[in-house]
Amino acid sequence: MSWIHKGEIERVRQSEMATEKLPSRLEAAPDVSSNTSQKLYLHVDMDAFFASVEERDNPSLKGRPIAVGGSVDGLKGIVTAANYPARKFGLKAGMTAIEAKRRCPQIIFVHLDARKYTYASAQIMDLLESFSPDLRILSVDEASLEISGIIRRYGSPAAVGQAVKDAIISRCNLPSTVGIATNRLTAKVAADTSKPNGLRYLIPGSEAAYLAPLPVSKMCGIGPATEASLAKFGIKTLGELANASEDMFRLKFGVVGPALIQMARGQYAGRMAHDDARGTDEKSMGHERTFGAPILDRAELRGWVVALSEMIARRVRTAAMVGRVLTMKLRYNDFETLHHQSVIPEPTDDEEMLILQGWKLLDQCWQQGRPVRLLGLSLGSLIPKVESIHQMNLFIGNQVFRREALYKALDSLKDKFGEKIILRAMGHSQRVRRDLISFGKSPK
Ligand SMILES: [Mg+2]
Repeated sequence: MSWIHKGEIERVRQSEMATEKLPSRLEAAPDVSSNTSQKLYLHVDMDAFFASVEERDNPSLKGRPIAVGGSVDGLKGIVTAANYPARKFGLKAGMTAIEAKRRCPQIIFVHLDARKYTYASAQIMDLLESFSPDLRILSVDEASLEISGIIRRYGSPAAVGQAVKDAIISRCNLPSTVGIATNRLTAKVAADTSKPNGLRYLIPGSEAAYLAPLPVSKMCGIGPATEASLAKFGIKTLGELANASEDMFRLKFGVVGPALIQMARGQYAGRMAHDDARGTDEKSMGHERTFGAPILDRAELRGWVVALSEMIARRVRTAAMVGRVLTMKLRYNDFETLHHQSVIPEPTDDEEMLILQGWKLLDQCWQQGRPVRLLGLSLGSLIPKVESIHQMNLFIGNQVFRREALYKALDSLKDKFGEKIILRAMGHSQRVRRDLISFGKSPK
């Protein structure tokens, strides 16, 4: 396989320092209250997505407890999804099939059909985009839309929510839950706490009161580690967190501290985890990391290439796209920033391609011995996957489809358990592992 390299290294020193990201998942939040034209965000989360698709396609399963994944006899494998009747018995994703059967002897195991779910997901995302072009696909069954521009057409924010739910029913016959609020995070919490088949609109100004009684773990971004540190301050609910002292939290948690408080007040207008490094070019998808402590170790940088490639490939696959221009952004500790690009012969959504190509770019970009403070990768020149398929010859096509089945299965596990669940053995140093885990709770 031949690779075409654009050997040119761009040096981008100018305005980069001004736009340097905060070394955290959380960025400084603009003040919402001073915003006159208030934005509204609608969060859609499909109810028990995989299980609902199976129920839809086999109505005799309706109302009966079903688990997707695991062997049909329930002796092997892991449950990837459980419908609501099964959840009443305590069944949940990640449980072994044996344990599921012990808790619920009448459980029906359904074979996991990743291609079917991906297809339904693509239909849903396509539909959502027809409501509002400002769509963020957060996982195979979750998305966030900015809807302030379309409220007048439907009459009210809640009417937009109902229209979205109805449209998903009529197109895919699948149940969903919608939350609407003045920022994406709060909208997600509104949806999470209204399942199944729910619709909740938090009127601007009512967010804090709604969030107050909820445990801190209900907030997307507050994982077990943060929950434990908050407990040390006696903070268990979002209401208690909302009343904490910003100054004290800044001392204890750095920039994240005040952001946590704003999240609990329903005022956090910074970016969601999935928004990071979305890039100015909408036809590309990327991720980048600013490292708390600059990295000098080649193995560790290669590990980050693996992690970033996996995240990009998964997002690209969720969007049913393929891309062929891979760009690496590397920033040294002295803020010198390099961009380096290569063109992949076939448009791809394959993380192994991205990893191998990313490692080559790293070798071209990075001068050994210079500490790196930021590493980013993005895949550009994206086109819809269907457009690229006819270009493949049959032999490659078969290989690609086999590999795809594997990736789709991995993606669905990651969607359920977060990025940290499946980390490639290669290239992942302890620190990468720890940092990935400290990303916080990934939206399930
Ligand atoms: Mg869901």
